[in-house]
Amino acid sequence: MDAGKYLTWQVGGVKITRVAELAGRPFPGTFMFPACTPEMVLRHAWLQPHFARDDGRLLGSIHSFVIESGARRIIVDTCVGNDKARNIDAWNLLHEPFLEHLAEAGFPAESIDTVLCTHLHVDHVGWNTRLVEGKWVPTFPNARYLFGRREWDHWSSEQAVHRDGDVMGDSVRPIIDAGLAELVDMDHELTPEVRLEPTPGHTPGHVSVRIASRGEEAVITGDLMHHPLQCAEPDLANNFDVDSAAARRTRRDFLSRHSDRPVLVLGTHFAPPTGGRVVAAEQAWRFAPVPSADSGKR
Ligand SMILES: [Zn+2]
Repeated sequence: MDAGKYLTWQVGGVKITRVAELAGRPFPGTFMFPACTPEMVLRHAWLQPHFARDDGRLLGSIHSFVIESGARRIIVDTCVGNDKARNIDAWNLLHEPFLEHLAEAGFPAESIDTVLCTHLHVDHVGWNTRLVEGKWVPTFPNARYLFGRREWDHWSSEQAVHRDGDVMGDSVRPIIDAGLAELVDMDHELTPEVRLEPTPGHTPGHVSVRIASRGEEAVITGDLMHHPLQCAEPDLANNFDVDSAAARRTRRDFLSRHSDRPVLVLGTHFAPPTGGRVVAAEQAWRFAPVPSADSGKR
């Protein structure tokens, strides 16, 4: 078993567990960022070995975070999912043992009480549903699914550009039809320790997740950044940003607010060790990984 599969962090009284769906083949930076060259990656030597290879290719990850706050079990983002027809080859008609990994980490699907999608992109909603006898059914039958109202308004409008197959039809609408969805504001409070924070740009209703407990603090980025490289190159726009100027403003604001502060930043697409701090460096920042509380098997 891959020891990196279940990284965990303790933030005051809150425990956060990372469960991976798809990890690690190195990919060319241009897959995410049109302006990214291998030379740009190699200029930032601190990216190696966790986040880049010495040939300038990048490493990433698709994973969920499970937050345990009080009696609550909240899964943040649900990856790509199985059996879904997608335009990106690596994500098309997957058969990954994600639910088995989730259960092994201590979270059978029935035990999850809240699903939160930071935004409604293909790699954040996939396991909302699974295919049972030809129908898309909710994967987490005992959960309320929280979707941003602004986000839903955008993706259900006629102007929205859908590039990744029928994401709404197979992963979002079935949840609404099952009566399990709740449309929430961008600063919604989930528990006294966990709340949403608006970080629009990548998508109009994009949110991050703030965790604060007993004087300790963490934040789950969502896709306000896709890779630690963007700490050093904050203007690097992502191929999938709906509004790249707004995304840039949000990213710079986020980085300066967290610069040299003791806040654990958990990157939604950051390869293991996934968590770290934002540290001022040169004209921008870098990402300084911190070890997780328990990177062993469980
Ligand atoms: Zn994403």
